[in-house]
Amino acid sequence: MHTNKIHILDSTTAERIAAGEVIERPSGAVKELVENALDAKATEVWVQLEEGGRTLIEILDNGYGMGPEDLSLCLKRHATSKIVSLDDLERLHTLGFRGEALASLSAASDVSIVSRTNTSSSAYQIETTSGNLAPVTALPFAFGHFLGSDHGTRVRASALFAQVPARLKFLKSPASEVAQVREWLERLSLTRPDCGFRLSSHDRKVLDLPKSNESKRVSTILQAGSDFRILTESQSRGEIGVRIHWVEGLALPHSRKVFTSINGRAVRDRLVQQAVFQAFKQSLLPGHYPAIALFIEIDPALLDVNVHPTKAEVRFARPADVFDAVRGAVNSLVDRKVWRAPEAAISPMPILGQALAPQLGSTRVTQTTERERASLWVTPVDGAQLGNEFTPSCHIGNLFNTYLVFDLGDELGLIDQHAAHERVRYEELRKGASSHKIASQALLLPEVASFDPEKRSDIEARLHWLANLGFEAEVFGESSVVFRALPAAWGDTNLRTRLKNLVERLLECPEADASTEALAWDEIVFEKLAMEACKSSIRAGDRIVREEAHALINRLFACEHPWNCPHGRPTTVRIPKGRVEEWFQRRL
Ligand code: ADP
Ligand code: MG
Repeated sequence: MHTNKIHILDSTTAERIAAGEVIERPSGAVKELVENALDAKATEVWVQLEEGGRTLIEILDNGYGMGPEDLSLCLKRHATSKIVSLDDLERLHTLGFRGEALASLSAASDVSIVSRTNTSSSAYQIETTSGNLAPVTALPFAFGHFLGSDHGTRVRASALFAQVPARLKFLKSPASEVAQVREWLERLSLTRPDCGFRLSSHDRKVLDLPKSNESKRVSTILQAGSDFRILTESQSRGEIGVRIHWVEGLALPHSRKVFTSINGRAVRDRLVQQAVFQAFKQSLLPGHYPAIALFIEIDPALLDVNVHPTKAEVRFARPADVFDAVRGAVNSLVDRKVWRAPEAAISPMPILGQALAPQLGSTRVTQTTERERASLWVTPVDGAQLGNEFTPSCHIGNLFNTYLVFDLGDELGLIDQHAAHERVRYEELRKGASSHKIASQALLLPEVASFDPEKRSDIEARLHWLANLGFEAEVFGESSVVFRALPAAWGDTNLRTRLKNLVERLLECPEADASTEALAWDEIVFEKLAMEACKSSIRAGDRIVREEAHALINRLFACEHPWNCPHGRPTTVRIPKGRVEEWFQRRL
């Protein structure tokens, strides 16, 4: 006897299951609806929430709107005006293309859409209640509330997930749902600075971003109220263009201010993030993240945007090229190859940290490789060369026994003697610690670190990389490495965890980095050297003579990373002449 087990789901259940892929929480719905508004060329978008979006999500835009025929189709699954066939994905210029968002939203909530095009004299409305679609109706009056425009769209979704209790259970507090919506709007707003964005929760204003340009929008979103300087870098390599805005010197304990946009699409891409973090490794402590907005432009044919239901991830046809392009551009910013970008000096406050070249397009010596040089636009300026402006003849004195003061012609320059010396000492110590004669220290009791047995051959192939760095280690049994000696700089703190981390790093380390000391580098080693550097440096308040000051600046600008002390404080500050003139009201 057969008992049948398989049956076809009824369409309502199937729709609700599918809806969950696209709309997991209110922020997902807002993202989709705002993307629709942007695709409709809106220049103003207003998002309103009640109960964190659970009772009401409303989006108003002044885009080109929909006529009655489009309205009657837009809630259906696979209804889209953006592509016709799969080939269109290769030259996609819209954010949407799956034709699923409105269908999913109407499966997960009660939806009402009012819309008017600029060629129509009235607005039309379509509604669904508990999944039942009402026919399109013409509104009896000229609906004119599209943010000052006579065309646009208003989408209201109420009672989100009322019919999907499983999802409802996973919603967080209204406050944290609002925070997520805000984060999404910030991400989207960076991709469309020419559009104004507002968010209110009940009647409280949460976000208000007037129409603007890229540098102002970036500065608003990245700095969140502070006055750090933002440096901008643009590069293109082959088919990939990269533009970065970086809030110099900011080190955050989370990566939420790392924004990425690829072809105008706000995404969180792991590959791109890894490239960014790798480039920042030198200037940020482990666990600290930069504030950065990164815009990547790439031939759409080399990008697959259809790998994720919410389109939050993409896939590259040539990931290694993208990785290199991003890492190269970030390196140029954080290392020494910085040149003046038109938008660089947007901060009205004293300029912190890294200096910029006064002469553009000059033929200063650079330390870029041939390959990098081939991809440049303008002539990059070597960071060490920039330091040459801080010459003994510009040194006009010392302030508070702490800062060396420089007249740089059109800027007032200050160098913190302690931070500067700390940087110098730190680099000297680091060189010592990673020189080829690394002092190794035998362990009294060997330490063991484990790895997954399937990684055994990888470990065996790579273990010799560690030998050059002062470790004495061998594979032991199926899944362990036994360490008998460590570099002296390692000390003996917390060895078990650190050796486990080391083994993980060894497995992740790209072949090309095998010879660098980065493998042996961890927070404890860093802190040890930074502490030693600090202890052996001139202090704030110490009186130093001119000759000592000059020796210090020479050594500082011979450093690999002269602009920050090991913990990231700036060593140099430059205040533009114009700013000084403002203080004295010579200029308004
Ligand atoms: P997709 O954006 O992938 O095409 P959606 O379900 O998000 O799918 O939207 C379906 C269609 O409805 C869109 O292709 C577009 O034509 C239309 N539409 C949705 N929202 C708007 C809007 N705010 N303004 C104008 N047209 C819209
Ligand atoms: Mg859409």
